Amino acid sequence: MSLNVVMLGPPGAGKGTQADRLAREHGIPKVSTGDILRDAVQRGTPLGKAAKAVMDAGKLVGDDIMVGIVRERLDQPDARRGFILDGFPRTVAQAEALEGILAGRGPVVVLLLDVPSEELVKRLSSRRVCGACGANAAPNAPADARCGQCGGELVQRRDDSEAVVRERLRVYEAQTSPLVEHYRGRATFFPVDGNQPPAAVYEALREAVASAGMPAPRTA
Ligand code: AMP
Repeated sequence: MSLNVVMLGPPGAGKGTQADRLAREHGIPKVSTGDILRDAVQRGTPLGKAAKAVMDAGKLVGDDIMVGIVRERLDQPDARRGFILDGFPRTVAQAEALEGILAGRGPVVVLLLDVPSEELVKRLSSRRVCGACGANAAPNAPADARCGQCGGELVQRRDDSEAVVRERLRVYEAQTSPLVEHYRGRATFFPVDGNQPPAAVYEALREAVASAGMPAPRTA
């Protein structure tokens, strides 16, 4: 059986970090729509050109574009055994489209990371990422540290300035938090306390995946 996961939660809740680890342990791809868009911006593709200003303002890229990107990505052979979606869906329309994309591909496990908003502002405005590969730096990394993955320079994400962070949180409340109600009634919906050390969050996510009757990690 494939493991199909949606990571839900506000910006800064730790979705990307936890999705990376789940994906690695299960040998399935993490599909981060934010990463796909940032890559397009960096390469200056038509998609990147269209998305850049929207992302810099902390708003959402249009549903049609996003659904097209995800449909194509989940159609790739490596996603057939499962995937961890990070940052999609972000609107009810995207969630409905995802249902169509996944018809016949087994249940979706929805993992919601709950973190209070003041903690999110703190995390995001102090977050540094690698300018070369996009990996998150450890929160306590010294000022002159380099990327632990590729040695690249650590920078602040353009949309992690405090003003844009507040806008992203507002957009989350308005457009993405309704998804919590959309998914809440399902047997495979799991809220997890994201305001604890990453290792404890990961254990809680693992338990949720196991209690959904999903396959154990490949390497466990
Ligand atoms: P993230 O890395 O998930 O925080 O995404 C960064 C930015 O990319 C967001 O603030 C949006 O502008 C855009 N984005 C990423 N995923 C989506 C999506 N599913 N729908 C619309 N916009 C998105």
